[in-house]
Amino acid sequence: MDMRPLAARLPAPIGRLAELAYNLWWSWHPEGRGLFRSLDRVLWKGAHHNPVKLLEDIPLQRLLAAAADISFLKEYDAAVKTFDAYMSQNSSWFATHYGILDRQTIAYFSAEYAIHNSLPIYAGGLGVLAGDYCKEASDLGVPLVGIGFMYPQGYFHQHVSADGWQEELYEHLNFEGAPISPAVSSQGERLKVAIELDSRTVWVAIWKVNIGRVNLFLMDTDIEENSPQDRRLSARLYVSDREKRLQQEILLGIGGVRILRVLGIEPTVWHANEGHAAFMMLERVRELVEKGMNFAEAVRRIPSNTVFTTHTPVPAGNDTFSFDLIENYFHRYWESLSLDKDTFLELGRIKGETSFSMTVLALRMADWRNGVSILHGKTCRKMWQSLWPEVKEDDVPITSVTNGVHIPTWLAPDMRNLYRKYLGKDWREKQDDPDFWKRAMDIPDEELWKTHLWLKRKLISFVCDRSRRRWTEDNVTPGQVLTMGALLDPEVLTIGFARRFTDYKRATLILKDTQRLERIVKNQSRPVQIIFAGKSHPADEHGKHLIQQIYHIAKDPMFGGRIAFVEDYDMHLARYLVHGMDVWLNTPRLLQEASGTSGQKAALNGIPHFSVLDGWWHEGYNGANGWAIGNGQTSPVASQDDQDAEAFYRLLEEEIVPLYYERDWNGLPCGWIRVMKEAISSIVPAFCARRMVKEYVERMYVKAAQAAEGMTTPHD
Ligand SMILES: *Cc1c(COP(=O)(O)O)cnc(C)c1O
Repeated sequence: MDMRPLAARLPAPIGRLAELAYNLWWSWHPEGRGLFRSLDRVLWKGAHHNPVKLLEDIPLQRLLAAAADISFLKEYDAAVKTFDAYMSQNSSWFATHYGILDRQTIAYFSAEYAIHNSLPIYAGGLGVLAGDYCKEASDLGVPLVGIGFMYPQGYFHQHVSADGWQEELYEHLNFEGAPISPAVSSQGERLKVAIELDSRTVWVAIWKVNIGRVNLFLMDTDIEENSPQDRRLSARLYVSDREKRLQQEILLGIGGVRILRVLGIEPTVWHANEGHAAFMMLERVRELVEKGMNFAEAVRRIPSNTVFTTHTPVPAGNDTFSFDLIENYFHRYWESLSLDKDTFLELGRIKGETSFSMTVLALRMADWRNGVSILHGKTCRKMWQSLWPEVKEDDVPITSVTNGVHIPTWLAPDMRNLYRKYLGKDWREKQDDPDFWKRAMDIPDEELWKTHLWLKRKLISFVCDRSRRRWTEDNVTPGQVLTMGALLDPEVLTIGFARRFTDYKRATLILKDTQRLERIVKNQSRPVQIIFAGKSHPADEHGKHLIQQIYHIAKDPMFGGRIAFVEDYDMHLARYLVHGMDVWLNTPRLLQEASGTSGQKAALNGIPHFSVLDGWWHEGYNGANGWAIGNGQTSPVASQDDQDAEAFYRLLEEEIVPLYYERDWNGLPCGWIRVMKEAISSIVPAFCARRMVKEYVERMYVKAAQAAEGMTTPHD
């Protein structure tokens, strides 16, 4: 919670360990991770790879011994040197290309961030994207500042009962052991901001998180000034209660702007990652009105340096609030804007509807709008055309920037070594260079296969160990232990399906014909196993039923223990899964998966994607780097499900299984390895976060910053 007491414990020769522990830089740099692991392997594991916790728990004697251990000191010095070089880098990509914009700040608002499990303030893909985004911005030297929430009770661990029902075990975050520090004024006082909610005032305290060179500021309402009810406002993410949800979004958007102001940060570009933060745009209008500008003029000023990214076409992901609710919370606010009720509500109204849409508000108030894959961009233009009735669908001003993943976070260390050896030491700098990645074809087959098998064994042993722990510690039944994956076999073709259990992801699609599935998985000479993982939102009964269906199949002896459901999908488990599967499966209902990123993580580790042609795969599939379910054309829901299930079975039976089991004299599946290499070389450069962040900078931030500075119109 505060670095100083920790730092005070440290012997001088290793005095900067606390600083390293409080910068999540360590989490994507092997020098950082390795250093903490070397300090004490057992405690490191016990602390769930959280260095702050490790330094709190470690006995003083152990620290003194480390401070006198020459080999540890050598490792320490090397890590500190790498860290300092990283932090002071003034030859970063951004500084080199956009030096003139050096003193700009881009404010990035997101309701969740997945950076590392030691800071569990995320639910799923949106958070992973935001976390990866901050890390890559740091790597590239982009002057980004993040705004989000501290959710001290937001995180649940998933257990599944013997009957397949998801149970949530909430983890109360231990602030002492989290890599956060209070944001304080120059006089050392805790910084706070006030936000009016209905007729009361809520206070928000600020925590700071260091993500390399990027600072992330998190809001926390659990402070004395607030009523017990308001103290819980920021306790959990994505509450289902509409009124609480609105309150949270007011805090995020309006509070977020105020936080930047008390911190003395003056952003030149404002980016709302999803509509949750759209009130940020209104608050900036209010500031201008307060300074004496009239509303019409103020509202014209905001869009030119405002960026809005929409992440999902699914209605539940696009927040709307009833006009009544909005009226309760905003009637004073619209007075302060000198607006009447109707004009205000119009800002978020979807034509013909009587609710206030955060997506509509954001689309109206940002000149820079994008979806997150080429296909999703097209879907957005269609979906939101009613906002631009005067233009043709193709001309609706919403573009796309396809999502990507942060390579150092998701690449297995063993694969990293392989890339260093066969592609070059500079692979990190060349992440987004397609020519460079063509060299993946030169990796010797034996070595790639050996590395892959090693990662697959690690995955299976991790899964077995997790089920063993549940068996010994929690009294689960033997049936549950087997269902959790105790019978998995590293020799068998292994398919992974891990994602949130919500309707459109169609986890149960492969159960359409269970007899056919049984024949596939139980084939004597060429068996297949499938590992499922994923949580459901606690309020999503339907999602829980989907988990239950999978669980029942996994538990059924008919399937021979070849289908497993691994509990508690999180970033940590995700790393094992995307490192060690043979195939990554994705079966969303077409046009509903805006991008998806887990398949990208798998591909960069050489795991081919087997997916509906939706989201990123629509542009990623090249005919040789994985498999496509369907042809990318939509048809009515029921027949689409049947067709896609049929395509899934057929591709497995006719292409995937035979290719996997076809071996040469040395036991190598050469045809399969070719697909792996094709996946690496075509997918890494195109779907890394580096390519993504550069695109946001080049296509939006730079122009938006120039618009803000010179007040030129953005699209000229
Ligand atoms: C990558 C990731 C996701 C997002 O994956 P999708 O393919 O978009 O479903 C969700 N949760 C975790 C823990 C992840 O690591």
